[in-house]
Amino acid sequence: MLNLIIFGPPGAGKGTQAERLKEKYNLMHLSTGEMLRSEMRAGTQLGAEARAYSDKGQLVPDEVVIGIIGSSLDQHKAAAGFIFDGFPRTIAQAKALDDLLEARKTKIAATLSLVVTDEELKNRLIMRGNVSGRADDQNEAIIENRIKEYNNKTAPLIDYYSKQNKLQSINGIGEIDVITHSLYDCIDKLSDPKH
Ligand code: AMP
Repeated sequence: MLNLIIFGPPGAGKGTQAERLKEKYNLMHLSTGEMLRSEMRAGTQLGAEARAYSDKGQLVPDEVVIGIIGSSLDQHKAAAGFIFDGFPRTIAQAKALDDLLEARKTKIAATLSLVVTDEELKNRLIMRGNVSGRADDQNEAIIENRIKEYNNKTAPLIDYYSKQNKLQSINGIGEIDVITHSLYDCIDKLSDPKH
């Protein structure tokens, strides 16, 4: 089983690249952001709860997203592997993911970290807001808050996965196809016995 995390700040290109990795390696793509937006569209109580946080650019509580990921793993028991996108975003979520996978006798193979400067992120998110219709992409104060949440709560995961020898950093600026190929190279080396 190949389980990967696509990691990076908001606007780094995680969703775009996860879609490509899903196709190439036959993975189940789990995006907590997408799952929460789908709950919001369906008008569920969970969606309403999540919206109260995401509209301000804040992370939703750990137990909410951990619960979603736990049930997704159960729903897709036959998957050849997972690509986690936008999860984990806190140390508590990373520990919970390790436990959830261990209970299923599997683990994370690598955390692929897309490296992009803050300036580039802000420009990308504002541009995306013009087309995505996402409330949290359209307001500069909310975008600033999302980047702040990332720096405070999510960036510490770089250290968490480095200590597990799982962190792979990839330049996230440039042509989308070039970045995709850097990711393929990284993943292909994971299963290469010479490495
Ligand atoms: P994303 O589409 O990944 O940028 O997520 C959009 C919003 O959903 C975030 O700004 C958070 O409010 C919420 N969200 C998504 N994933 C998580 C997570 N793993 N932990 C907490 N909040 C999350």
